[in-house]
Amino acid sequence: MRPLRLALCASEVAPFAKTGGLADVLLGLGRWLGREAPQGPGHDVRIFLPLYRKIAASGLATQPLAGAQDLEVRFPQRTIRFSIRTAPLPQSEVLVHFVDCKELFDRDGIYTEDGDEPLRFALLSRAVLETCQRLRWAPDVVHCNDWHTGLLPLYLRTLYAWDRMFAATKSVLTIHNIGYQGLFDQSTLDVVGLGDQRAHVHHGDLRDGKLSFLKTGVLHAHRVTTVSKTYAREIQTAEHGMGMDELLRGRSGDLVGIVNGVDYGEWNPAADPRIPHHYSAADLGGKAKMKAAMLQRFQLPHDPRAPVFGVVSRLTAQKGFELFADSIPVFLQREDMRLCVLGSGEDKHEKYFQWLRDTWPRKVGLYRGFQEDLAHWIEAGSDVFLMPSRFEPCGLNQMYSLRYGTPPIVRRTGGLADTVEPWDPASRTGTGFLFDEYSSQALAGTIDWALRNWRDQKGWQQLMKNGMQKDFSWDRQGPEYVALYRSLTGA
Ligand code: ADP
Repeated sequence: MRPLRLALCASEVAPFAKTGGLADVLLGLGRWLGREAPQGPGHDVRIFLPLYRKIAASGLATQPLAGAQDLEVRFPQRTIRFSIRTAPLPQSEVLVHFVDCKELFDRDGIYTEDGDEPLRFALLSRAVLETCQRLRWAPDVVHCNDWHTGLLPLYLRTLYAWDRMFAATKSVLTIHNIGYQGLFDQSTLDVVGLGDQRAHVHHGDLRDGKLSFLKTGVLHAHRVTTVSKTYAREIQTAEHGMGMDELLRGRSGDLVGIVNGVDYGEWNPAADPRIPHHYSAADLGGKAKMKAAMLQRFQLPHDPRAPVFGVVSRLTAQKGFELFADSIPVFLQREDMRLCVLGSGEDKHEKYFQWLRDTWPRKVGLYRGFQEDLAHWIEAGSDVFLMPSRFEPCGLNQMYSLRYGTPPIVRRTGGLADTVEPWDPASRTGTGFLFDEYSSQALAGTIDWALRNWRDQKGWQQLMKNGMQKDFSWDRQGPEYVALYRSLTGA
């Protein structure tokens, strides 16, 4: 079978631009696709990402891509020029094509609240297609991710339909989180050059005076995927569909759930360059050292018997931290335990964790902000990982914590339900602790259950090893994407 030509596009790709799991997935999947096929070379993969200010200022060595300089996209109200600069994904030959457009991307954040936010990401989609045209490189599949690239499938079917080069190109849209839909005023249709395509966008939204990038993608992508099988079912229900369930039920035949892979090149306690002590299921000695080192970093007293609970998260409503209010203080008061938190996000959650820290300064450690290094330290140095999400499309942190021997406490939703198996002390099977009901009581009951198991250190070691031996690598998950691409292209 011949290698595929694959264009991946997204608003985040690690290590260049990251706020969450999306970035890790693009890095891991991109790398893996580039070296897939044991018998031969990998696929021909190009990843498109805006050249945000932070990347441009990082000193990253990029080269101008020959043939893709000073391109022009004519939107009805504005003509935008851009060029492509390239650099390989780290430890890979896959090239990232950075869309260099200062007027749209030379700004402080990845995401903005500026009036031209829809135009910024419409340009990303157009830049993918324009660049392919310039290079006369016909992708078999353009793989879009989240709302930022949601217009691309419609562009492909309309504005670019004249170009026979794209005649066989298919589009895939992956929904990483249905909570972010890119909903704008319907006047945006004219701004992004789709004013003549009203018939092809969601009519209900238009009636409400809106345009949704994500819905447009769901309507026009040849296939829609999401990042776990359970989430694929959930988003077709009114409870989790966030207004898109009906549309998704209509496309259920084209909707597939594929759990995200983990890039064990980045997340492996035996070789992780970001942590000072290494360990594996066969030799756990380094984990105890990591616990001591992490507690020291948070300036908390160390006692090997006191379990450390870790949190690494965006602090948003999705992540379920409101359940802490009536549960965590009771344990902090009663138990000799530690809680180490790394997170940033909504003010009320940051303030809550600050309050916990101020109230139990010898038990709670907090770092407000985003710090890649510390995320690895917490995965390695904690005894239990807390992830009580209200909803969780896939979730990567619970899979990282499994590999780092840090059994997770999770709510049974989305990808958490698909990747964590309940610990059963009698048969010594399972990898973590799950609860169903979204309530403080259910979380508290599960923390209690975890603490009871912690006291049996022999059983606990088995629990840790069960998780560490699980394989969520891209070698397992990646072939599902390749099968999907091939089913579309017939290649
Ligand atoms: P989501 O994509 O919803 O944020 P995931 O669990 O899929 O959740 O992925 C989160 C990713 O972001 C992980 O790699 C995690 O380590 C990282 N992360 C989240 N918050 C922080 C933070 N404050 N500092 C460093 N890394 C973070």
